[in-house]
Amino acid sequence: MVVSPDDFERSLAFAEIAIGQIKALRQPAYPRNYEVWYNYATGQNVHLNAAVNEALARSGGLCDKDLNRIYDDLLSPHRFTETIDQLGVKVMNKISQVLAMVQTAAGDASQYSESLADASSAIARAGADSDSLHVIVESLVESTREMEARNRTLQDRLNDSKREISQLKENLEAARTESLTDPLTTLANRKYFDMALARLMADAKASGEPLSLLITDIDHFKKFNDTFGHLTGDQVLRLVALAVKQNVKGQDIAARYGGEEFVVLLPRTTAQHAATVAEHIRRAVMGKELMKRSTGESLGRVTISAGVATMRLGDTATSLIERADSYLYMAKHGGRNRVAVEPDPELPPARVA
Ligand code: GH3
Ligand code: MG
Ligand code: MG
Repeated sequence: MVVSPDDFERSLAFAEIAIGQIKALRQPAYPRNYEVWYNYATGQNVHLNAAVNEALARSGGLCDKDLNRIYDDLLSPHRFTETIDQLGVKVMNKISQVLAMVQTAAGDASQYSESLADASSAIARAGADSDSLHVIVESLVESTREMEARNRTLQDRLNDSKREISQLKENLEAARTESLTDPLTTLANRKYFDMALARLMADAKASGEPLSLLITDIDHFKKFNDTFGHLTGDQVLRLVALAVKQNVKGQDIAARYGGEEFVVLLPRTTAQHAATVAEHIRRAVMGKELMKRSTGESLGRVTISAGVATMRLGDTATSLIERADSYLYMAKHGGRNRVAVEPDPELPPARVA
């Protein structure tokens, strides 16, 4: 159930839209162009659709340059690595500049100290000659002023660098967040979930506290898509994601696990408590009547089923997911629109002396 079956008709419908666009705009059907239009047809990547729409509004078409830019920025599998590499180069350059500034400042300071030493020997030579002393003091005042001016410039430059570095840090964080976010629902993606699961399992092993996992799957979603179309189906995915988001808090981590499956990781939570969270999500989804935005037509309601399991000694990420999935399967077989939960592990039997 976790792995969606290959949806032949659905992908073919998107493929036809993509080819239609390529033909209409008389573009070469290169894989890269096709990929952009296929993704556009699915509507899953809101940033990509916005970029294409913007280019269409601007020039009525999508030239090679636009296509390449959109592909590189929003689809290329290397885009995050490239962005992070570029940011890394910028950070290294900035650090070299700051180091150069500090070296110049160190040179200035040693020059200044030389001029102080010169002044001190000149004072010794001048004895009590007040004119000579006056000249020496004047030149000392002058080099002190110069030193102050250089320090101010250095301070300004260091402040500029500090601003630039914190901007770079924000860009890096934004790139990282984007690489771990599902664009359709804005929930964490599978990659983030896998990392969080490994980390939370290690924490739970160390602390001995429970870690629960719930998996949800929309009931008869294929039928919904077939009846109302996949774009409306995608709106439903957003709605279910919202119900998940609104019912998890603080320490819990919600993610889109696959097509229409969502997962929540609940540290320090027993299976029974996790089942309550699953129940809240289930009710929230069921409570929403779906409306077609364009026509106001009611599309009825969707329901979800959920499975809940708690980490056991010796569990791996895969075995924990498989157990939660087996309870999801149980919920489906029990009639759907319900939560199936793994029983709390039995306490060891009391020893008889
Ligand atoms: P059930 O889970 O109740 O057994 O029935 P189901 O029809 O939901 O079956 P399953 O979970 O196996 O099917 C998943 C379907 O979800 C296939 C596809 O139509 C739909 N789906 C998967 N990912 C997406 C997506 O990103 N967008 C849309 N619109 N539909 C998706
Ligand atoms: Mg499914
Ligand atoms: Mg389903």
